Amino acid sequence: MTTSSVESTPLDRMLALSHQLGEEPRKLAILGEGNTSARNTDDTFLVKASGSNLATLSATGVTECRFSDLAALLKQKKLSDQEIDDALLAARVDPDAKKPSVEAVFHAFLLTLPGVNFVGHTHPVTVNQILCSKFGSTFAKRRTFPDEIVCCGVESVFVPYTDPGLKLAQAIQKGVVEYIDRLSRAPRVILLENHGFIALGATPEAVLAATLMGAKAAEIFVGAAAIGGTPQFLTAKQVERIAGRPDEHYRQKALGL
Ligand SMILES: [Zn+2]
Repeated sequence: MTTSSVESTPLDRMLALSHQLGEEPRKLAILGEGNTSARNTDDTFLVKASGSNLATLSATGVTECRFSDLAALLKQKKLSDQEIDDALLAARVDPDAKKPSVEAVFHAFLLTLPGVNFVGHTHPVTVNQILCSKFGSTFAKRRTFPDEIVCCGVESVFVPYTDPGLKLAQAIQKGVVEYIDRLSRAPRVILLENHGFIALGATPEAVLAATLMGAKAAEIFVGAAAIGGTPQFLTAKQVERIAGRPDEHYRQKALGL
């Protein structure tokens, strides 16, 4: 990213992040896979529209949505596909903008967490080779090297397989709330079993770092397992020493306690 983050708008920063995540040699997302989002104002956020490509995303492939409409959707238990589509269309600030992807619902939730301004969702080959195996929850819970802790947090949220759509957004919300309640900090990474990877952060740089380091950690996990069975993980004590203390105030702020 060449432009200064101080001068550029949330849209500029989100587009730059999308192009980074969409770089084909990185194998994080191809074709229309993945999506990105950014907090735009107190009431609205920007999200990639359905059918756009991360690598070539431009302003016309981005839709501004209201948080409140999608937060309301998250509380609904039984909605038809048509009702969900209507709600997604109604959440747009500009009625001529493209329809946001149904994944906009989980973006809306994640962007309302304290300290989260950008979200990147990808399907990295290295991570998905673990998430499509029996080792997904182990990969989420354990850490193998210090920079993984620095960029991806003490643990990742693990979400058991759920079909994409509103139910997935609700499963992500449940996993994140449990994580914050237990660990008193925001997650950096959410792993979706048999599906993909979500990174969240205050800046696009934090999202990119978590994604690249998460993809690298997956490659190391698979390599370590290939030569010696279960990888040699860092102990809980080592992880806590590197990560530092949890923040009780974060738990209060995020969960409204
Ligand atoms: Zn996906």
